[in-house]
Amino acid sequence: MTWTMTVTDLKQYTYCPRILYFMRCLPDVRPITAKMAEGILAHEAAEAREERRQLRCYGFKTGERHFAVSLYSAALGLTALIDLVIVQPDGKPIVVPIDYKLSDMAGAHFKLQLASYGLLLEEEMGLPAPYGFLYLIPERRAERVPLSAATKLEARNLLAEMRKVVESEVIPDPTLRAAHCVNCEFRRFCNDVV
Ligand code: SF4
Repeated sequence: MTWTMTVTDLKQYTYCPRILYFMRCLPDVRPITAKMAEGILAHEAAEAREERRQLRCYGFKTGERHFAVSLYSAALGLTALIDLVIVQPDGKPIVVPIDYKLSDMAGAHFKLQLASYGLLLEEEMGLPAPYGFLYLIPERRAERVPLSAATKLEARNLLAEMRKVVESEVIPDPTLRAAHCVNCEFRRFCNDVV
């Protein structure tokens, strides 16, 4: 069986490999936390505001905006729902993914998430995705993120690694960043770490 991963899986795997294990191999244990509920509400509000936001927020004068773009690639074994895609901004033959974040920092895991959007869009639309944006909701600011070939390759390699975790059902090593455990919804399952 070939597992299909979501881009959210990839983002969480880069945050801590164990999260993917808990989500996919023990799917009934996940609690709904206040933080998750807050994130969903903020995301919906950002989507509503995006309809009124101007393209110049991303440095463009023109371009086609597509909201909530759903993509699937059998070749990558990957699905995603992208908040916003701008096609051919200012007439350039490129495609630009945009993701809203309830965060004031463009962390490495968010950047990999954006790189995997780039991979999906390049396959689907046949246009290059040289960069994307993280829209940081608390700051009401769009941060431009380069989507280099190296970052896209890293995303592909991580997807292969993730499939091995799910197929083997062996719990991976925890994140090396203890700070990630502080507010983690799976803390009670990681007695060896916290
Ligand atoms: S508590 Fe820490 S090690 Fe366990 S899943 Fe969460 S982030 Fe990973």
